[in-house]
Amino acid sequence: MKLATKLVGIIVLGIIVILAIDGYIAIQRDTEILEANMKRDSQLMGRALKDLIADVWQKRGRKRALQLIEQADKEEYMVKIRWVSLNAPPNDPYSPRMPREKLGMVMQGQEMSFKERKKAGAGYLYTYIPIRVDDKKLGALELSQSLSSLDERAHHAVNRIFILAVILLVLSVIAVLLLGFGMIGRPLHRLVEKIRRIGDGDLSEPLSLRGGGEFSELATALNTMCEQLNDAQKKVHKETAARIAAIEQLRHADRLKTVGGLASGIAHELGTPLNVVSGRAGLITTGDLTKQEIMESAEIIKTQSERMTAIIRQLLNFARRNSPKKTMIDLRQIVLQTINLMTPLAQKQKAKLCFASEDVTAMAKIDTGQIQQVLTNLIVNALQAMPQGGNIEVGIRPEHAQNPENSKDSGKEYFRVYVLDEGVGIQEKNMQNIFEPFFTTKDTGHGTGLGLSIAYDIIQEHGGWIEVKSTPGTGSCFSFYLPREVEK
Ligand code: ADP
Repeated sequence: MKLATKLVGIIVLGIIVILAIDGYIAIQRDTEILEANMKRDSQLMGRALKDLIADVWQKRGRKRALQLIEQADKEEYMVKIRWVSLNAPPNDPYSPRMPREKLGMVMQGQEMSFKERKKAGAGYLYTYIPIRVDDKKLGALELSQSLSSLDERAHHAVNRIFILAVILLVLSVIAVLLLGFGMIGRPLHRLVEKIRRIGDGDLSEPLSLRGGGEFSELATALNTMCEQLNDAQKKVHKETAARIAAIEQLRHADRLKTVGGLASGIAHELGTPLNVVSGRAGLITTGDLTKQEIMESAEIIKTQSERMTAIIRQLLNFARRNSPKKTMIDLRQIVLQTINLMTPLAQKQKAKLCFASEDVTAMAKIDTGQIQQVLTNLIVNALQAMPQGGNIEVGIRPEHAQNPENSKDSGKEYFRVYVLDEGVGIQEKNMQNIFEPFFTTKDTGHGTGLGLSIAYDIIQEHGGWIEVKSTPGTGSCFSFYLPREVEK
């Protein structure tokens, strides 16, 4: 509607300006023609009287000539005719209406016309026809005509233009309301609505505009664009889903590789309870035990079986493929579970795993399985970096930090989870590459080069980052930061 109003407004303004200019020029031209006619009429009339008056003045005297002028004046009601004496002082009844200094040319015998307007508005056209009487005295006929008829005509013309402009304006407003709204405003409004919906991501409901004009062309182009966007969106969704599935597959494979490593440690761990179970079962089968002793042995067998089930369940839980899901959970719990799971493997390698933050509560919104995978990857690396055994410290620290990979992060609260080892450390030249997929310094069969790259992606998906400090020959410290979220 705004565009329609503007368009019609500009057209109307243009028409009004053209009307005004044309009207002004027409009025000017009209006035000039009328003035010229009035002047010519006065001159013709004056010239006709001039010779007659001069003749009567000479033959029958001044009085008779003045009587004749008076009579002519009475008969001509549009033009006032007077005799004027050009030398008469201002208050003399025969003094001219125009000031004497303007009548120089008339005194030299020339016919002259003057237009004079009083301040009050009334205007007159004076025509002077010089007449020489008594051979030396110079007088003149003064013919005056009121310009009021001219003014009236101009006034009427202005009124006519004004009324025309008003009618045009009214018609234009009606045109804006009827045509402007119907032909421009409404289709434009629907187009804007459609574009807004596209902006909000709603690509449904194609827009149909009747008329076949530019607007309906635009609507068709918009509909085509929506269809193309829709197709592209579907393709992107499909590709993203395939990519996520591939990543999940890779992560799962990485997890299974760790499970393989853990299995030997767990098998060792199961050895003791199995020995106890088989020993106790052997005792029962001898038949030498009292009822009380049989009860005790059965109790021990039950406890040891439960211990073995718990150990195996831990491994199976870790190996299981879970769909990604973030929940609010205490990070300490996950660290402890992981340490528990890894301890048999650590023991087998003569390494000691310890948790250094027993009293920290660290609530964070995380995917338990994924964070556990990150931790196991870091601990497996630490173990592999210490072939002769040593200590591995795992801890959690609340810290105020700034994500170095996110320029929008101006600093906030994070939990830093670290794995500190006393291993071989990382060579300076390898530091740049350790997070790259398939980068490994380990022998074939020992390393795939995927552990750190998977850990990096998982932590990034959680809004955090991984940091590493290492001194070759002394050890390394891998830390990952997770946003500390306030539970709502
Ligand atoms: P992989 O362990 O299969 O080689 P990763 O991506 O886990 O793959 O690790 C890449 C490389 O980073 C390792 O080959 C190793 O050189 C180095 N690295 C990782 N963690 C440690 C660590 N704790 N101590 C020394 N080097 C490490």
